[in-house]
Amino acid sequence: MTATHDVVIVGAGPAGSTAAQVLAQKGFSVLVLDKAAFPRDKLCAGLLTWKAVDVLERVFAETPEGLLATGVFNTATPGYRIRFRDRTIAAGEMFYPFHLTARRVFDKHLLDRAVKAGADVRQECRVVSVDPARASVRLDDGREFRGRHLVGADGVGSIVRAACPFDRSAWKAGLGGAMEFYLPRTDPLLAGKVHEDLRAPNPTVYAGFLRAGYGWVFPHKEHLAIGIGGHSARHAKDFRPRFREFVEFLGLPASLADKAKGHGLPYGNYLQAPWHGPTMLVGDAAGLVETLFGEGIYYALRSGELAGEALAAALSRGADPTAVYGKGLRRDILPELVWSRKLRRLLYASQSWGFLPLLCFVRGGGRLLGEMVHGVRSYRLLLRRAAGPKI
Ligand SMILES: Cc1cc2nc3c(=O)[nH]c(=O)nc-3n(C[C@H](O)[C@H](O)[C@H](O)COP(=O)(O)OP(=O)(O)OC[C@H]3O[C@@H](n4cnc5c(N)ncnc54)[C@H](O)[C@@H]3O)c2cc1C
Repeated sequence: MTATHDVVIVGAGPAGSTAAQVLAQKGFSVLVLDKAAFPRDKLCAGLLTWKAVDVLERVFAETPEGLLATGVFNTATPGYRIRFRDRTIAAGEMFYPFHLTARRVFDKHLLDRAVKAGADVRQECRVVSVDPARASVRLDDGREFRGRHLVGADGVGSIVRAACPFDRSAWKAGLGGAMEFYLPRTDPLLAGKVHEDLRAPNPTVYAGFLRAGYGWVFPHKEHLAIGIGGHSARHAKDFRPRFREFVEFLGLPASLADKAKGHGLPYGNYLQAPWHGPTMLVGDAAGLVETLFGEGIYYALRSGELAGEALAAALSRGADPTAVYGKGLRRDILPELVWSRKLRRLLYASQSWGFLPLLCFVRGGGRLLGEMVHGVRSYRLLLRRAAGPKI
């Protein structure tokens, strides 16, 4: 079978849509396949830092003001709170707000933009078999597509990654997990005696409930995203009981935790060279998730952008796409994952001494830590990595 497209992309989450946008804008023929019909849900707390907004501005020419006006972002909040169980470790305002989005809305918006740019998007197309060496895929209805290049943007359970010769046990050993539910702001439970954080306008994160992970309450316009996430191997069957404890701590019935959905989360099992022959992996499929807070949307957007640019360089001037993609990963993404993992080890190990190590770390770091979270500074020794927002 000869190539049907320049690039076939499996998965239309933020990583796939961004790669498609970059390539389609440059005039390459791009096919995007997704098993879902959009809008579709994706379990996610939907918090975006400055560095994610920066990619949206660069690749999609979006502005945060425009995204707020159209409802793609539903909330912008500069406030934050960090707790060790009930004790406030830090609270205040950042130099730049966190933006919150519902993934149903966000992912559909980015996909629509890729379609407008010229990408051929086919929904309800489940890929069931992949030949990474030939950049070809087969759907469950038997249809086959082949690109000159293939991009696996199909999330944490990637079928494209599974078809490549990567070390499966290392992947599994570093996998994390998360559980979450969305509580509508109109829910009568919120009118009762609940924890004050459920009425706060700012996101709150909680240490002290998981030995290797954390909990969160993120205040979207119409609902609260309440969840817990961390390292799977360390917690295994422990997640649900810990989530029950967290939900009860918030003054909510533990039954909400029982009904909550779970989802895999790369948590330190990132691939350093996520490619095989003409096939590349981006986003969760490559494990590109920050390894302390589990932030993945920026890494999906940025790796999609880097892969799109690398493939455009290959298609237009014969560059080696893996060399170009690898260089971008080593410059912008991998140092953040390596150093956030070092920091995580330190913080998680020190939790056994209670709240004091976290308190010293957060108070000592001050504004620099905020800049690190938003991506102006690196997790690597807090070195400056970007000019930051114009404010
Ligand atoms: C509970 C939870 C909360 C989170 N909260 C945050 C947060 O607040 N902020 C943040 O930055 N990150 C957060 N993350 C991480 C973030 O959700 C992911 O990192 C991000 O979605 C990765 O994007 P992606 O495009 O790589 O993959 P996905 O968004 O997972 O998209 C993959 C796409 O591939 C499609 N697909 C899969 N298999 C196939 C197949 N066989 N054939 C065709 N299509 C297929 C799927 O339908 C899907 O549309 C959270 C994760 C979890 C689990």
